[in-house]
Amino acid sequence: MKITVIGTGYVGLVSGTCLAEMGNEVLCLDLDAAKIDTLNQGGIPIHEPGLLEMVRRNVAAGRLSFTTSIEDSVAFGQLQFIAVGTPPDEDGSADLKYVLAAARNIGRHMTDYKVVIDKSTVPVGTADKVRAVILEELAARGVELPYSVVSNPEFLKEGAAVEDFLRPDRVVIGAEDERAIRLMRELYAPFIRNHDRVIVMDVRSAELTKYAANAMLATRISFMNELANLADKLGADIEQIRVGIGSDPRIGFHFLYPGCGYGGSCFPKDVQALIRTAEENSSPVRVLNAVEQANDEQKHLLLHKIRARYGDDLRGMHFALWGLAFKPNTDDMRAASSRVVIEGLWQMGATVTAYDPVAMTESRRIFGDDPRLRYATAPIAALAEADALVIVTEWKEFRVPNFEQIKAALRQPVIFDGRNLYTPSQVREHGLEYFAIGRR
Ligand code: NAD
Repeated sequence: MKITVIGTGYVGLVSGTCLAEMGNEVLCLDLDAAKIDTLNQGGIPIHEPGLLEMVRRNVAAGRLSFTTSIEDSVAFGQLQFIAVGTPPDEDGSADLKYVLAAARNIGRHMTDYKVVIDKSTVPVGTADKVRAVILEELAARGVELPYSVVSNPEFLKEGAAVEDFLRPDRVVIGAEDERAIRLMRELYAPFIRNHDRVIVMDVRSAELTKYAANAMLATRISFMNELANLADKLGADIEQIRVGIGSDPRIGFHFLYPGCGYGGSCFPKDVQALIRTAEENSSPVRVLNAVEQANDEQKHLLLHKIRARYGDDLRGMHFALWGLAFKPNTDDMRAASSRVVIEGLWQMGATVTAYDPVAMTESRRIFGDDPRLRYATAPIAALAEADALVIVTEWKEFRVPNFEQIKAALRQPVIFDGRNLYTPSQVREHGLEYFAIGRR
């Protein structure tokens, strides 16, 4: 099939590449010329395991190409995927300007039947708006052309995006016309050969499904975080509680890890957008207000623990930080807890040396050359001259450290662990002070 993917970010680039991998011809459009240059020169603008090799393979096979030309991109694919960003607006609702601009471009240049597919996470009613702007553009040109609008929300996880796209748990297709449903089923058939995991539903339900999924996962995290804070007060151990409740198959272990707050480009903005939608429809989602508030507070928890240990005035103190990305296996730092920790430490007068296996370039882009933040080339090198180690991202390489080496390298033997990576008694045996989340 001939496919255009609009937007070459985490979702667009992964979707386009995986669709090409199955033999489709894919043209990816982005208005960011720097991204397209990088791609045309054989690089990729993001870190995602397995993606670079797959992009190169498909480009070499002639199935995948990149452009900044709107006209070419509209002419190319019968299927037009919209995978542009939907950042939060000032009031928390999803800003649809990129989605609607992409739709408008399609209406402005199309000359034959198109299936326009919303892959971006968009509020209920967006497909109607997409349909309307395309119709407006066609009317302005004085032409009538057939097109379908489909909602096909994406459930991939950054850090495992390629694997998730190739082997999806489910494919949600919100569509009302048979022609589009048939094409979408055909497109996804190779990804779900052994089990038909396509769930066809009406468009509005599909749009809401994506928000419901992210809100449910965020709820589990905030629930565990608040329980961890309570366990801390009660002298109980949240890790034991986690195992105790996760063993119940009705609960399960996924997304049950307490920590220093969730971040990333999706959970914070999607929870906010759903709250906003609920407000607009006078149908409150009180649970989600609490989820959001709990998470905002949780991102400050490590700072509270540091303050409790050293006081408010950290001038002259220096901290080592392990992890900048909002989660492992990605360089994405959007809404990452590390940003709250770094800025909080700065505010109290401290300086930071950070180490992250892949997100240091992104961090330099965000913080510039601020002298209060330095970078180390290895975890252990970050500890030199530091008064404590603060762990914010659960990268695998942090899981089994040499505690003797950590103790020797730090100025003071203290660890603040925002991801509960270690067993407290084990760390303390090495003569280190250890502060974690909800652990005795
Ligand atoms: P992103 O910011 O990484 O990428 C968006 C890209 O779209 C950018 O490169 C931007 O330049 C480009 N763009 C914007 N307007 C354009 C236009 N009119 N024409 C062409 N290109 C345009 O975003 P992302 O993380 O890939 O997310 C995209 C959407 O997918 C969002 O709605 C997000 O909520 C959703 N989503 C994201 C994830 C994730 O893990 N990142 C997972 C599922 C769903």
